[in-house]
Amino acid sequence: MEKKELLYEGKGKKIFLTEDENFLIAEFKDDLTAFDAVKKGFEKGKGALNCQISSELFELLEKEGIPTHYVKRLSDSEMVIKKAEMIPIEVVVRNIATGSLTKRLGIPDGTKLPFSLVEFYYKNDDLHDPIINDEHALILELAESESELEELKRLGREINVILKSFFDQRDLILVDFKLEFGKDSDGKIILADEISPDSCRFWDKNTGEKLDKDRFRQDLGNVKLAYEEVLKRILNK
Ligand code: UDP
Repeated sequence: MEKKELLYEGKGKKIFLTEDENFLIAEFKDDLTAFDAVKKGFEKGKGALNCQISSELFELLEKEGIPTHYVKRLSDSEMVIKKAEMIPIEVVVRNIATGSLTKRLGIPDGTKLPFSLVEFYYKNDDLHDPIINDEHALILELAESESELEELKRLGREINVILKSFFDQRDLILVDFKLEFGKDSDGKIILADEISPDSCRFWDKNTGEKLDKDRFRQDLGNVKLAYEEVLKRILNK
């Protein structure tokens, strides 16, 4: 499959058309951004790591029955994906309180939540991705129905169960993560975007060390080493 025109460039990926209208190519970039892209960085090889990590996790989820946009990996930093109409909602699933949740609600950092929390954020850069509830999503016509929103929550919880146990077996705590979904040509909701240390938080089960984009957000150093460690643990159980 060949890359044709650039369709879209986001903060972490470029999306290209291909000769087949049903498929696109996602190229993972080495750029790092945080805090609404106010903080910018670059880490050579980060794109390839995220592409490999995402590929492995999409394959795992497909095997477990979760429909995704993933088709196959094309190179170190490129994958073929199904074309999907993106739903402009970020679905965040949390197992442990940290980040914006602690700031918004005053829950102490590191608190284990009594059950996994699913939140919706409106994907809109101009508005800085505000948190929304189901009624906001319907008023903004981000989703067609309450049942579509329920489907997003159900998929988020199911993906959390699969990933939490997968990472637990690799001595990583899946703290929280963000998912994006789209609709395929049949109107079916499929998991899209990426699942990587850019979009998830991983804490080492034994040392508590952060192995994700918080190393960049908080200037902890060794960003690439952390992403490499996540890939290593995914590959070697
Ligand atoms: N997240 C993301 N993209 C965003 C916002 C959040 O991938 O635009 C991920 C983030 O990496 C974390 C989870 O979603 O794993 C929850 O993030 P939080 O709301 O705590 O936001 P932050 O503290 O990063 O501002």
